[in-house]
Amino acid sequence: MLQDIVFGRLENEFRDIPPMEEDLVLCFRSGGILLRRGQDDSLTLPSWQQVVPHTEKWSSWREKQLRYLFRMEEQNYFLWMGESGEQVPEGYAYEPARPLRQLTSKDVCYAVMTGWHLYNWYRVNRFCGNCGAATEHDMKERMLRCPACGNMIFPRISPAVITAVTDGDRLLLSKYAGRGYARYALIAGYTEIGETMEQTVQREVMEEVGLRVKNIRYYKSQPWGVDGNVLMGFYCDLDGDDTIHLDETELAMAQWFPRNDLPAKDDGISLTREMIRVFGEGKEPK
Ligand SMILES: [Zn+2]
Repeated sequence: MLQDIVFGRLENEFRDIPPMEEDLVLCFRSGGILLRRGQDDSLTLPSWQQVVPHTEKWSSWREKQLRYLFRMEEQNYFLWMGESGEQVPEGYAYEPARPLRQLTSKDVCYAVMTGWHLYNWYRVNRFCGNCGAATEHDMKERMLRCPACGNMIFPRISPAVITAVTDGDRLLLSKYAGRGYARYALIAGYTEIGETMEQTVQREVMEEVGLRVKNIRYYKSQPWGVDGNVLMGFYCDLDGDDTIHLDETELAMAQWFPRNDLPAKDDGISLTREMIRVFGEGKEPK
């Protein structure tokens, strides 16, 4: 999966520190991320010095909303929070951040997705939802605080499930309706308030394909920053009738496929693809 390359090496606690020479900066604008694409399709992020004029001091960087994000693989990442005004260095351009899935630059893609999650959280919480006053960043931890009413706002992560429904040597694959994503997928959905992850699995499978499931077992999780999620992968067994009743507002199709003839290959990026491969190899948790 995408984050495997940095597993255990993401230092994501907040630090109020200035940028150093070699630190990189994530600049988002209208769903795009500023980067340079090499001839081999590798991706490079700009250093902060390429983006911010050289003549000013750190005190003004802070005012310009250049904010420390995290450290990954011995590399610090900052976030440009200004509305506009940063320099676009030569050779760099804004590319859509959402479809970035570059195996040659897994670290950059992972930094962009995680930075995008935080960027969205900072952006939509500039004002207090309780009283409307402008929020301020806490100096010790990743938290926004309202100076007027004391409201504390922490980063929001939305749990969601990915579910591989199996029936002996068959796996249920589906395709989403009305989305650009036309590849085979597993049943997925957000956890609702008041339910367990296992109940989410049962509810989503019933809603989307009208099947009952049992023997729900956890496999693995994956952060998915572009949608602000943490995804939790489960395998489960069909319980009873295998007739699919498709929710056509959610899915374009759903179909049983034999273990030895699955039409999806692992892309090394997503939990969904890994779970399909693992089932194909017969290595899913029993
Ligand atoms: Zn407030």
